Amino acid sequence: MIEFYAGAFGEYPFLEEKYGTAEIPGTASMEHQTCTSYSSRLVTGTHKYDYIVAHELAHQWWGDLVTLTAWEDIWLNEGFATYSDALWVENLYGLEGLKSRMIDFRDIYFNHHEGQEHAIYDPPLGHLFCEIEYEKGAWVLHMLRFVVGDDNFWQILKEYAQLYAYSNARTEDFHAVCEQIYGADLTWFFEQWIYGIGYPVYQFGWGFSDRNKVRIVINQIQEEFPLISMPVELEFILSSGTEKKLVWVNEEKNIFEFDFQEKPLNVLFDPDSWILCELESFHKKGKMKR
Ligand SMILES: [Zn+2]
Repeated sequence: MIEFYAGAFGEYPFLEEKYGTAEIPGTASMEHQTCTSYSSRLVTGTHKYDYIVAHELAHQWWGDLVTLTAWEDIWLNEGFATYSDALWVENLYGLEGLKSRMIDFRDIYFNHHEGQEHAIYDPPLGHLFCEIEYEKGAWVLHMLRFVVGDDNFWQILKEYAQLYAYSNARTEDFHAVCEQIYGADLTWFFEQWIYGIGYPVYQFGWGFSDRNKVRIVINQIQEEFPLISMPVELEFILSSGTEKKLVWVNEEKNIFEFDFQEKPLNVLFDPDSWILCELESFHKKGKMKR
């Protein structure tokens, strides 16, 4: 794990000293610099809680090397450590592993949010260590990765760690690093995902016309949350193979048309789970969670 994170984020920050784990009574774990406290109940011999080992280790970078400036920025610790757990799973099992971990996070967040929604930035008192900072925070990094692309994303993490090493950072500092590497404005992204609340609920459907056009309809039907702008990947399953296309979904009602010589066998919405959302079909009643 240390080797993996050192490769991804930059060298282990306390190489001259050590990384240790102290087994403690009780149920808590805590990322003390160079020596994580780890509950004895998590030592099972089954690797069941490796995700906690990964989470606390990742805090050596996200929390101990780069420390948040104020509690408003707590997601810089917890969202980053939580996403790092998913990155470790990706390292072991590839993109399918990453996807399944993100779906775990999504379900944890969805089960939590009812009636308690607040922005990731500056959580209310008593909600500093909640699913919005951890699991939704991880999702924001996942979506950022989708928006800026893999190469930029890994470069952003390294640059941010290096720039604020043994120092303090704020959300706006991370935002600035993202824009510098990506080379374009990301205010829209941070506004909706970090300073704003909620997530989109998409309604998705498609049809094929005799003019050889595939018509895609995507509505945003969330009532309690604002409209979201995101690029969305569509996967067309054809008899000859598959084809992916990217569309920007910004409005409440969105229609896209593509030329195809044949009627696709199916069209999939965000097949690799890059977007934190709920998805409903036009044809089925009730929510269709992916
Ligand atoms: Zn943590």
